[in-house]
Amino acid sequence: MSVYLDHAATTPLSPAAREAMLPYLDAWFGNASEPHAYGREAKAGLEHARGLLAELLGCEPEQVVFTSGGTEADNLALFGQAGEAPGRMVVSAVEHAAVREAALVLERRGFEIAWAPVTPEGVVDVAAYEQLVRPGDRLAAVMWANNVTGVVQPVAELAAIAAEHGVPLHTDAVQAAAGLPVDVGAAAVATAAFSAHKVNGPKGVGCLVVREPSVRPQQVGGGQERGLRSGTENVAGVVGFAGALQERRSRVDGRAQVRDLLERLVDGAAVPVAASAPRLDGHSLLLVDGVRAEVLVLALDQAGYAVSAGSACTAGESEPSHVLLAQGLTPEQSRSVIRVSLGLDTTVAEIEGFAAALRTAVDRLRAGALLPGPAGH
Ligand code: PLP
Repeated sequence: MSVYLDHAATTPLSPAAREAMLPYLDAWFGNASEPHAYGREAKAGLEHARGLLAELLGCEPEQVVFTSGGTEADNLALFGQAGEAPGRMVVSAVEHAAVREAALVLERRGFEIAWAPVTPEGVVDVAAYEQLVRPGDRLAAVMWANNVTGVVQPVAELAAIAAEHGVPLHTDAVQAAAGLPVDVGAAAVATAAFSAHKVNGPKGVGCLVVREPSVRPQQVGGGQERGLRSGTENVAGVVGFAGALQERRSRVDGRAQVRDLLERLVDGAAVPVAASAPRLDGHSLLLVDGVRAEVLVLALDQAGYAVSAGSACTAGESEPSHVLLAQGLTPEQSRSVIRVSLGLDTTVAEIEGFAAALRTAVDRLRAGALLPGPAGH
């Protein structure tokens, strides 16, 4: 097996989350809306998970709306608060596609989207944002931490500026939750999106924390989740989500030292992007000038290391990343970055091995050597 250094794309299921889920996949499979014993067991598990997540995320249990993941939570926040066109929103220039594409749909429906610029380090330009937010805006949206660069935004400050104008702020906290003790109450955001699979929970489950009463449901049906998200609840999934986040919060994150070591070891072959901005501890985006990221990712895969070219969520795209263009990289540079994202258990030895493999691959590729094809194909 190769060494997995792509934790920003997804994480392995933690043993604690798996253990917590098993009873709800087996004996306690009931529908949480039913009053009989099976239903009551499922409901108890669901509400326990909700309470635990609320405690960990700094909100009230009734503010946690379970969804099928981060994408649905972001969509619910934007479409749920947009109301009727015409209207206006301020959206950062570096959002994940789950927010950006929703904003682009709203733009096509007649909304004005004001794109908030970022500095060359990828941090939202607070002075420019202050000028952009206006009373009457339906929403401001700024992600807590970026999935490409790992840059952490001053979300509490941006939420306070929006609040001065009476504008609610939505934050996509999907990546942030993997590296920071995110507290939505302390940051005073209106809504915040989370996804279990980024914090060693299962895929296909997440939540939107809703602290703003104006959010409207985007799907109708049985009225689950206080009417905000109809559909039979994924009880095992949310139990795994809560168990995973609880375990993650209880562990000391020593990844910043390992990441700094990595960036020292690759010096000369690669340059870290946004190195002086506040960044998630386990996250490094490396610019490898003159080398195409897809080719380097394949070379590293053959050498036994799994990393990503830019953002995994837009994998397959050949377009340069809007995130990197927004912070001033050229299209060519933005095609020459690889993302290395560490797990809590990534070791120094693994990073030393990776750095050596990266140097070898970069030397070969810069020298114009062709990649050998897979044996027998
Ligand atoms: N937002 C960010 C910042 C992400 O990194 C991702 C996932 O890659 C998402 C949203 C989407 O989350 P999900 O995969 O749970 O739909």
